[in-house]
Amino acid sequence: MRALLFNPWITDFAAFDHWARPLNLLRLATLLRQQGWSVDFYDCLDRRSPDLEGLPAPPRHRFNPYGGGHYYREIIPHPPGLDGVRLRYKRYGVPPRRVEQRLRTFPQPDVIIVASVMTYWYPGVFEAIAMLRRLFPRVPIVLGGIYATLCRAHAEAHSGADAVVTGRHWPDIVNRIFAILGDTSQPCPGDQTTWIEPAYDLLRQDFCFPLLTSTGCPCHCTYCATHALWPRFVTYEPEAVLDSIGRVVRDYHATDLVFYDDALLVKKETHFLPLMEALIRQGYAVRFHTPNALHVRQIDATVAGLLKRAGFTTLRLGLEVVQRDWQKSTGDKAYIEEYLEAMRHLRNAGFTREIGTYLLFGLPGQTIEAVREGCRAVAEQGSEIYLALYSPIPGTPLYERPGCDFRFDPRVDPLFQNNSLAPFQSHAFTDAQYRELRQYARNLNENVRKRPFLEAAR
Ligand code: SF4
Repeated sequence: MRALLFNPWITDFAAFDHWARPLNLLRLATLLRQQGWSVDFYDCLDRRSPDLEGLPAPPRHRFNPYGGGHYYREIIPHPPGLDGVRLRYKRYGVPPRRVEQRLRTFPQPDVIIVASVMTYWYPGVFEAIAMLRRLFPRVPIVLGGIYATLCRAHAEAHSGADAVVTGRHWPDIVNRIFAILGDTSQPCPGDQTTWIEPAYDLLRQDFCFPLLTSTGCPCHCTYCATHALWPRFVTYEPEAVLDSIGRVVRDYHATDLVFYDDALLVKKETHFLPLMEALIRQGYAVRFHTPNALHVRQIDATVAGLLKRAGFTTLRLGLEVVQRDWQKSTGDKAYIEEYLEAMRHLRNAGFTREIGTYLLFGLPGQTIEAVREGCRAVAEQGSEIYLALYSPIPGTPLYERPGCDFRFDPRVDPLFQNNSLAPFQSHAFTDAQYRELRQYARNLNENVRKRPFLEAAR
């Protein structure tokens, strides 16, 4: 049997590759191969794809030379409902005509599995399904991933897929795909605790590889969908992760490894610390990056020292809000004192410009001044500010809470869950105020970059 795994385009007002690689499709590929299947793979978001040859190259991004960057993009019409928004709407990735040309050279699969990520990127997913249907009219198309899980009814009603599979429990997903194909004779064993090494050979032209050493998160932040995707927090054996890292370094010459974990430092005594100690012993010449925020509460002198010695080059910290009452009511993730302590340990370990701190902006009821206060606190510590616009995500407590102050109701259409709409969406602040705040954070960041790091408050 043969499966075609397909990672579709992003459709949005803005998108940037922060080391996004289709990790879950790669894990699915491994399971299917273990069951004796052949796997073909196409990633519309592969910025090194030969199918981009001859197209104007997007500018190199000066802040992310380690495997992130701009996607090729084309401006497309706004989808219905977003017509009035004054931002240009784009399709990011290899243009459809080139994808189609390439897919015509692929053998006929027995099933096509399409991934999905952000709920409001569904127009790109639907376009992909329509194209695949045209090219392979008799092949069943299965849609999975985050959008499919969080907006199942919408996906079933509108995507055009033959089946929608939900959840992130991969052996179970494989079994449901087998059931759709009418063959349950060889069920795929395992559950969320089963270690699955991604099929890294499918990214062989890359130098940057994703790592997942745990799934889920024990915290319960009211704005986060992790629990809707992974009901449990599970860590994988450090030895298995270490073997995997050894293979990508040796076989694929990886230089940059990116942790996709939501809670990399939780249960650190049995997970992160032994993994780092073993990695340091191996002495691989690689850089590590954590685009998903690290839990600042877990960063002590030992963790900070190991992060430095292991070669972490990009560190993102999750602070989100600085006001104690806000932090308490949104999930108790990190308090400002814990952040200051974590920053102190990181500075003592020798970190300088590698640190960026996420602050949430646009939470229902949040004021501009509250966000400014957070920006000042972060900049004083010598960290750059990463403003993350709040996105109302189905399955999160905040989304379910009645009376959110949105002009576009995110329940009406997943398109309205787009955080780029926040300035147009919130009654709490205007577009002009939003732009002013962005500029405020930019100015603080410039000062942080100019200032000698050691002068930052200790
Ligand atoms: S700590 Fe991070 S991953 Fe965990 S629930 Fe909160 S936001 Fe989500």
